[in-house]
Amino acid sequence: MRIDLHSHSNRSDGTSSPAELVRHARDVGLDVLAITDHDTTEGWAEAANVATREGVALVRGIEVSCRHTGHGVHLLAYLPDPTYPPLAVELDRVIDGRNARLPATLEKLRDLGIDIDAQAVRRCAGHAVAMGRPHVADALVQAGVVRDRTEAFDRFLGPNGPAYVRRYAAELTEMLETVAAAGGVSVIAHPWAERHNHDALDAAGLAYLKDVGLAGIEVDHQDHDTRTREVLRDIARDLDLVATGSSDYHGLGKTGHELGCNTTDPEQLTRLLALAEKSAAVSGRETPEVLR
Ligand code: AMP
Ligand code: ZN
Ligand code: FE
Ligand code: FE
Repeated sequence: MRIDLHSHSNRSDGTSSPAELVRHARDVGLDVLAITDHDTTEGWAEAANVATREGVALVRGIEVSCRHTGHGVHLLAYLPDPTYPPLAVELDRVIDGRNARLPATLEKLRDLGIDIDAQAVRRCAGHAVAMGRPHVADALVQAGVVRDRTEAFDRFLGPNGPAYVRRYAAELTEMLETVAAAGGVSVIAHPWAERHNHDALDAAGLAYLKDVGLAGIEVDHQDHDTRTREVLRDIARDLDLVATGSSDYHGLGKTGHELGCNTTDPEQLTRLLALAEKSAAVSGRETPEVLR
């Protein structure tokens, strides 16, 4: 049983359509796939249509852009009712923040003598609801300024880069409560990835977040080295948090994240889904099922 619980389609910054994503999951032999676009459920319907036909079990999720003690944290919210108003309103706010950031980013690039217009970025974003830096990176590639997304992040768009602009993100503790009230479960994505690394996600910090409603942490992720994975796995065990493993697949948009390169232990998925079922029952919301 091969389970990958973190992937992106072109509704955010992946390069495959939701249908292609599910077919690719089948081709690489995955039994379970979660679609977790940044801040949107826009890909759910198309992925669901294909999943039932292709025999891939689909877990519908969202990777929500959050902030905690001043640092960015990505929260994987699985199986929440997307129509729950506080969740829908907050996701809209994050998407608005993404759109609002674009002119400021382009202004900074212009200050560096690089002229990219907003239309070019929108064209690169294509079907994406959640527009992001990767689409600006694609426009920079098209303009011949950089070779690929990686170079664009390294030279301009990374958090210390000259064209970096902060954007709105949801308050993590509030989002944990919102996801629970929407009948879903929460897993912190790549908690110790370099760019997110901060003290608030140490063992004590994670214990606190568990009290607020956190169900698990993503342990096996390409941004965690072997040692990091070992330490995080121990913390998950001590705190009785679910430990997941996933690819964070972005299609051609991000190298080294092939679908299924990390997977989740079936026992851990069972625990996660049991927590989701409990959350759904307590919330009284109509939540999405795992499609099989
Ligand atoms: P944003 O959503 O605009 O904040 O941009 C963050 C996204 O950029 C995340 O989904 C990352 O996967 C992606 N990203 C970050 N660094 C890189 C990189 N070096 N190459 C390609 N994609 C990246
Ligand atoms: Zn992404
Ligand atoms: Fe992420
Ligand atoms: Fe991701």
